[in-house]
Amino acid sequence: TKYVYDFSEGGKDQKDLLGGKGANLAEMTNLGLPVPPGFTISTDACRAYLERGDEPEELAAEVGEHLAALEKAMGRRLGQPDGPLLVSVRSGAKFSMPGMMETVLNVGLNDESVAGLAAMTGGDERFAFDSYRRLLQMFGSTVLGIEPSVFAEQLDRLKEERGTTSDLDLDVDDLRALVATYKRLIEEHTGSPFPQDPREQMDLAVRAVFDSWNTERAVLYRRQERIPGDLGTAVNICSMVFGNGGMDSGTGVAFTRDPASGAQGVYGDYLQNAQGEDVVAGIRNTVPLADLAGIDQASYDELLGIMETLEQHYQDLCDIEFTIERGKLWMLQTRVGKRTAEAAFRIACQLVDQGLIDMDEAVRRVTGAQLAQLMFPRFDGDAERTLIAQGMNASPGAAVGRAVFDSDTAVEWAGRGEQVILVRRETNPDDLRGMVAARGILTSRGGKTSHAAVVARGMGRTCVCGADSLTIDVRGRSMRTRDGVEITEGDPISIDGTTGEVFSGEVPVVDSLVVRHFEGDQDAAGDELVAAVARIMEHADRTRRLAVRANADTPDDALRARRFGAQGIGLCRTEHMFLGDRKALVENLILAESTDEQEKALAELLPMQRDDFLGILEAMDGLPVTVRLIDPPLHEFLPDYTDLSVQVALHDERGHRDTKEHTLLEAVKRLHEENPMLGLRGVRLGIVIPGLFAMQSRAILEAAALRIKAGGDPHPEIMIPLVASVQELELVRADIEQVAGEIEESTGVRPSFSVGTMIELPRAVMAAGEIAGAAEFFSFGTNDLTQMTWGFSRDDVEASFFGTYLEKGVFGVSPFESLDVEGVGELVRQAVERGRAARPDLHLGVCGEHGGDPASIHFFDEVGLDYVSCSPFRVPVARLEAGRSGT
Ligand code: ADP
Ligand code: MG
Ligand code: MG
Repeated sequence: TKYVYDFSEGGKDQKDLLGGKGANLAEMTNLGLPVPPGFTISTDACRAYLERGDEPEELAAEVGEHLAALEKAMGRRLGQPDGPLLVSVRSGAKFSMPGMMETVLNVGLNDESVAGLAAMTGGDERFAFDSYRRLLQMFGSTVLGIEPSVFAEQLDRLKEERGTTSDLDLDVDDLRALVATYKRLIEEHTGSPFPQDPREQMDLAVRAVFDSWNTERAVLYRRQERIPGDLGTAVNICSMVFGNGGMDSGTGVAFTRDPASGAQGVYGDYLQNAQGEDVVAGIRNTVPLADLAGIDQASYDELLGIMETLEQHYQDLCDIEFTIERGKLWMLQTRVGKRTAEAAFRIACQLVDQGLIDMDEAVRRVTGAQLAQLMFPRFDGDAERTLIAQGMNASPGAAVGRAVFDSDTAVEWAGRGEQVILVRRETNPDDLRGMVAARGILTSRGGKTSHAAVVARGMGRTCVCGADSLTIDVRGRSMRTRDGVEITEGDPISIDGTTGEVFSGEVPVVDSLVVRHFEGDQDAAGDELVAAVARIMEHADRTRRLAVRANADTPDDALRARRFGAQGIGLCRTEHMFLGDRKALVENLILAESTDEQEKALAELLPMQRDDFLGILEAMDGLPVTVRLIDPPLHEFLPDYTDLSVQVALHDERGHRDTKEHTLLEAVKRLHEENPMLGLRGVRLGIVIPGLFAMQSRAILEAAALRIKAGGDPHPEIMIPLVASVQELELVRADIEQVAGEIEESTGVRPSFSVGTMIELPRAVMAAGEIAGAAEFFSFGTNDLTQMTWGFSRDDVEASFFGTYLEKGVFGVSPFESLDVEGVGELVRQAVERGRAARPDLHLGVCGEHGGDPASIHFFDEVGLDYVSCSPFRVPVARLEAGRSGT
C-alpha cells in the first residue's frame, strides 16, 4: 500500500483516505491557491499502526522520500542548523473531532536551528525564540502528555513579572529564559530531555496523532456523534509559514458567508503578529477581518478573491484559516463550514439564486433535523438574558421553570401547577417520574447518550446535559455556577436544548415563525427564512414519491396535520374513545355475563364512536383515514388492582358486600396476565368478544354513510392490529362485510372502504403472502415489530439497560428512535416482497414512531412503501426527508 500522498496528489473527495483537512489542502493545492507545500500520511497508515501497535515497516522510508522531496522543493532541510525547514504536524480525520491531538507547530526547531531561524529572518531572535517556546509548549503537552497548565503557568508568571498581559511585551531574553524553563520542565516530567533531532520530533508527533485516535475523549465523542471507531485519522505534514514575525504578518480565520444567518459579506477575525492558535485562544484581541483592508490591502484583496473562488468551487459556504507572512498570503485550511439550521435553509436558496446549485441540490443541503429545530419554540433573541452555563444540546426546545433538585419535588410542585426544571448531576431510572413532570431536564454530567439525554429525547422533553461548569449540591438543593452564582430550589432558570445554553431567570419564549407559517399565519410569510423554508418544502413535495400521512385521533389533530401537509391519516387509534366518562360503559362490556348484556353495552358505545369518526372523516374529507380497531388489553380500561383492593377492603370492613368494586376486582383478577402485551389484545379481542370489532366497524361505516349523505367524500380504511395469521383476518373481515351489507340495506348507501392489517409480528411477515389475500393494505407497526423482533418491551427497557447498550455500542441509536435496518428493516423488506407478490396493488405504509425519523424514512422509500405516517408536528419533517430521499 501507498501510505503517503503529496498535497498535489489528492482531492476533496478523498476524505476517507486523507482526512478532511488533507483532502481539502490537496484540493486547494490543485486549484493553484497558495498552500505551503507538504504531504499527508493516510488513514490507511493509521489503521495499520493501530492494528499492529506499531508503524507499518514501509512507512518510515516513504515518509523519508516525501520529506526529501519537500526539502528539495523548499531548498532547506528539516531543522537545518543555518536555515531550517520547519513543519507543522496536523491531525485530520474524516470528520473533525475534538478530543484528538490537534497540531504541533514549528517542528524541526532545536537549540541550533533556532539560531538559523533567526538568521533567516534578518537576525530576529525574538521571533525565533518565540517559535521555539511554542514548539516546546505544544510538543510537551500534546506529544509528551504533560498538563498544558504546567507551561501556561510559567508563561503567566513571566508576564506578571513584566507587568503585562500581552506576550508581545516579552523580549528576547524573557523568551530565551522561558525556553530554558520549558526544557527543564519537560525533562523533569518525562525523565528525558526534549528530543533535539528534527526527524525524531516529527516521527514522535505523527505517532502521537495516531495514538490520539483512541483517547477516552475521542472515543466518547465518536460514540456521541455516531462516528465509526475504525476510520483512523490522517496526519498532515505542512511546511511552516510564520504570522508571528512582525506587524506585517498575522493569522486569521474567515467564513465565506455568515454561518449564523447565511448573509453574504466579510466574516472573520484577524490578529497581527501571531501564530496559529492565537486567534481562537483569545489571548489577544482580534480585529474584524474587514480591518485587514487597512492593514494590508493587497493580501486582503487576494484573500477575498480566494474566498470567491472557494465558494464557486465548493458551491457552498466555506470556512478557512490563513496566515500572512511579511505581506505574503498563505492558505492553511478550508472546509465546507458548519452552520445553523436557519443559515442552512437561507444559504441553500441563495446558492440557487446565484446559479451555483439547482433546487434538487438545495433540498439535499438541508435536513429534517434542521427543519425540526426551526419548528421548536425558542427563546426570544431580543430579550435580555444571562448565560450561566453551557452544556450539550441533548434534546431540543426552550424550557423555563423553577429549579428543583429531586424527582419527588418535581412531581409535587408540578402537581400544584408549577413549571419546573429538574436539575440533577445525572439521572437514573428513578428519575423518570420527575422527568415526566418537568418542563426540562438539566444535568451536569453525561453526554448525548446519557440516561437523561436518551430518555428526554424519547419523551420529547427539552434537555441540556453535561453542563460540567455547574456544581450541583443535591442535598443542599442548590447549584453554583463557575462564576459563583448560586441557584437554589425554586429559583427560575431557562434552558435551551437546541444550543445547550442555561440562563438564569425566565427568558421569554416565542413561537417559531416557521410553525406559524405552516399554521397559515399570513404575517409569517414575509419573513426571509420562512420564504426559504417554503420554497424548499415546495420542491421536496414535488420530487418525493412517498406520501406523508399523520397519526391523529381527533378532528383537531387531523386539521392541524392537514395544515402541515398531511395527505391523510395513517393511524387513528380508537382506544382513547373508550376512556373518560365512557369508562363505565366499557366496564359494563367487560363485566357482561351474557351476550345480551354485551350487546347492550356495545349498543351504548356505538353512537359515541360514530360521532368521533364523523368529526375525523369530516376533517380529512377527500383523504384516506386509516382507523385501527381497538388494540390494547382490556385491563387497561379497568381501575388499578391495588386501588381496587384497598376500596374492597374498606367495603368489607364496613360490611358492604357485593359492591360494584367487588365485581370489578374479580374481573381484574380474571383478566390478569403476566405479559399483557403478549396477551389478549388486538385481533384476539375482536375474535374473543363477539361484536366489539363489529360495533367499531359499524360506527366507522355509518359515519361514512352520513358523510356521503351530507355531500362529503369519506375514505375510511379499517385496520386490524396484531394479526399473525390469515385466518384471524378472515374471521374479522367476514364480520365487517356483513356490517357493510346491513348498513347498505338500512341506509341505501354503501360507503367504499378497504380492510387491511398491521404487520407487527414476525409471523405476519412470514405469512405476508397469505395475509395479503385478505388485506387491501399493510401498515407496518414498527414499534411493536421492533419489540417483538428484539424481544424487549419498550415501556421497560429504555429506562433500564438502553443507556448501557448505547454506551457499550450494542447499537448506536435506540431501535425505537431509528429503525434497526439490518433486523427489523429486513422483516419489512420481506413482508413487502411477499405481500406484493401475492397482491400487486397492495397498498403499503408505516405508522410507528419511525415514520417521522429521517434515516428510517429513507429506508421506507427505498423498500417501496407508499406512505409514512407520523405525528402531526413531524409531518413537515417527513415531507422534507421524503423529498431528500427522492432527489
Ligand atoms: P485545528 O484543526 O485545531 O485547526 P490545525 O492543524 O488547523 O488544527 O492547526 C492549528 C493552527 O495552526 C491553525 O491556526 C493553523 O492555521 C495553524 N497552522 C497549522 N499548520 C501551519 C503551518 N504550516 N504554518 C503556519 N500555521 C499553521
Ligand atoms: Mg485548523
Ligand atoms: Mg402495535
